Amino acid sequence: MGRQLRDCRGLAELRGWEVREYVDNDLSAFKRGVKRPQFETMLRDLANGVVDGVVVYNLDRLARQPVDLERVIEVYETNPGLTFATLEGDINLASDDGLTMARVMVAFANKASLDTGRRTRRKHRELAEAGQPVGRRTFGWQSDLRTLDPAEAPLARQAVTEVLDGIPLAHVVRRWNDAGVTTTTGNRWSSQTLRKYLQNPRLVGLRTHRGEVLLTPTGEPVHGAWEPLIDGETWERLCLHFEARKLSEPSGARRGARKYLLTGLVRCGVCHGLMFGSKAREDGRFNYVCDRTAQDGHRVAISGHPTDRAALNLTFRRLTLQTEISGPEPWDGEDALREVNEQIAELMRAYDEHELPGRLVFPRVAALEALREKAARDREAWLVATTGPRLAPVSADEWAKLDQVELRARLDATWQAIYVRPVTQRTGRFDPERLDFVERETLTSGAAPQG
Ligand SMILES: [Zn+2]
Repeated sequence: MGRQLRDCRGLAELRGWEVREYVDNDLSAFKRGVKRPQFETMLRDLANGVVDGVVVYNLDRLARQPVDLERVIEVYETNPGLTFATLEGDINLASDDGLTMARVMVAFANKASLDTGRRTRRKHRELAEAGQPVGRRTFGWQSDLRTLDPAEAPLARQAVTEVLDGIPLAHVVRRWNDAGVTTTTGNRWSSQTLRKYLQNPRLVGLRTHRGEVLLTPTGEPVHGAWEPLIDGETWERLCLHFEARKLSEPSGARRGARKYLLTGLVRCGVCHGLMFGSKAREDGRFNYVCDRTAQDGHRVAISGHPTDRAALNLTFRRLTLQTEISGPEPWDGEDALREVNEQIAELMRAYDEHELPGRLVFPRVAALEALREKAARDREAWLVATTGPRLAPVSADEWAKLDQVELRARLDATWQAIYVRPVTQRTGRFDPERLDFVERETLTSGAAPQG
């Protein structure tokens, strides 16, 4: 661009013209829809008599789209006497022959650039159909795009195994980021990029084109000319895993609600809002937190495990004192739930022993797992609903055998809410005095704080 500009200045000087420069750097005259602000200004100045003519390096620099050229020509036709000069070629827009010539040249240049685009696209398609890898390196492969990378491939395989074992993507991501494992563009990993990566058909050696697995004319997927990272069935399970999670976690809220024993029961002593479980550290410690800092500037938090223990201990003591018996009624879905579990086991056995192919087994298993999830939720709701305010006295042995759902049912039956008072003295130690247990009965008498 520098040389072209210098040459144009030279030509103008030779003819004794004063110059005003219009430069649209980096804006391709080939692309339709690209606005070239300086081109627009130049047209306006020509039409308004601010300048008396144009010096361009060649016609291509001025207009490659016929529509741009027509706009220039229109200005020349309505303003006779405007001059025109180019350094390459003898086009003079101020003459009739020159106009015709210019139109032909622009039409050709425009066609050539369209053809180049079409040729590039066709070439990409051909490479894709031949299974040839193109473009940027994918994590797990070396820069030849074909050979597995000895450092990255094992990491990717480990991630696949872990995710199938139910380890959250975020956990893998944190470990990779901590270890300085980056994406091929040098960025940190996120759960989204990892999920997208693990769903890439390239992992099993399938060639994609424009985001879709490419099929041969007979409908077979095109295999790429590179080493696959994992086998097809593992990848299929992985995709189903993501699919199933999408179905079973419409909002993500339910998962959080089940994760911590007291979620939905612990409330902030300042605003009476629900406190949420917030994982504080890698070692599994967490806090119950009310963070309304944005609204009214308070933040109440309490250490999670000691709070859980305090709540369980108090509940246990309360229950051992009671004598009236009104335990949860048996749930009538137990048989159906057992049957679903047996069906899943049977399908997986048939798959393991090669009696049924994965494409038949996995969709069925996914559907059954959705049923199982629903049954577990129903069971939880039933336990909570049928457990009366007065539970059977329990022995320490019985208490120790209760699972989280059963414990929660007893907590819900005993307490309306557990309020957490803000810290008054920063001792750093857990202070059970901050907990204010509101029993179910006292709530009906109107003694509880308003939530
Ligand atoms: Zn609060």
